[in-house]
Amino acid sequence: MITIGLILPDVLGTYGDDGNALVLRQRARMRGLDAEIVRIGLGEPVPSTFDVYCLGGGEDTAQILAAEHLIADGGLQRAASAGRPILAICAGLQVLGESFQASGRTVQGVGLIDATTAPLTQRAIGEVVTTPRIEGLTQPLTGFENHMGATVLGDDASPLGSVTRGVGNSSDGTSEGAVQGSVIATYMHGPVLARNPELADLLLTRATGLALEPLELPEVEQLRKERLS
Ligand code: GLN
Repeated sequence: MITIGLILPDVLGTYGDDGNALVLRQRARMRGLDAEIVRIGLGEPVPSTFDVYCLGGGEDTAQILAAEHLIADGGLQRAASAGRPILAICAGLQVLGESFQASGRTVQGVGLIDATTAPLTQRAIGEVVTTPRIEGLTQPLTGFENHMGATVLGDDASPLGSVTRGVGNSSDGTSEGAVQGSVIATYMHGPVLARNPELADLLLTRATGLALEPLELPEVEQLRKERLS
């Protein structure tokens, strides 16, 4: 059984990113693998034994609550130390960094990504496309961004992709997302795994240790064609 941890969807669930967990479960089941989603709400301990973790985007006040809970709990940090794959979207990315600014103050992050987030001068909203910069991904990444935070990566984190359309991490418009250890983080909503099956299968492969055959899903390819044209 593959267990997919959906972490704090009650505070990091504003932008439809719960769909990433659904995509992982569905793509596992289509290969005949058993998979289940376990939702962990605010205040509940985060088990460190899930096969893969998903964190979504959220509003400023909500993401402060998420950061405080995750720091106090420590389960996600133990999972990261054990190399378990973690996908974090937008507010999830910011929360896993060293610090972020929200509701007018600087808030301590979980510290799984060497990154700090401060406000952009103008909200970044729209389609974003990148060229992936991590091994195992060959196709452009597509998503929808909607954030006020600008994230600067430190030396221990690498961008997930180079921006070809949209804003990405900051107003210089060059890098998007962050990769550090077993954490993959991005500003892309969509949900990102529905739009980018290669990324979904990379996470599933890391979660299971299995080499997965690609799935032929014309509707996914059609969606990609529309978003990338
Ligand atoms: N509240 C954060 C920001 O505006 C994250 C938004 C989001 O998750 N889409 O930057």
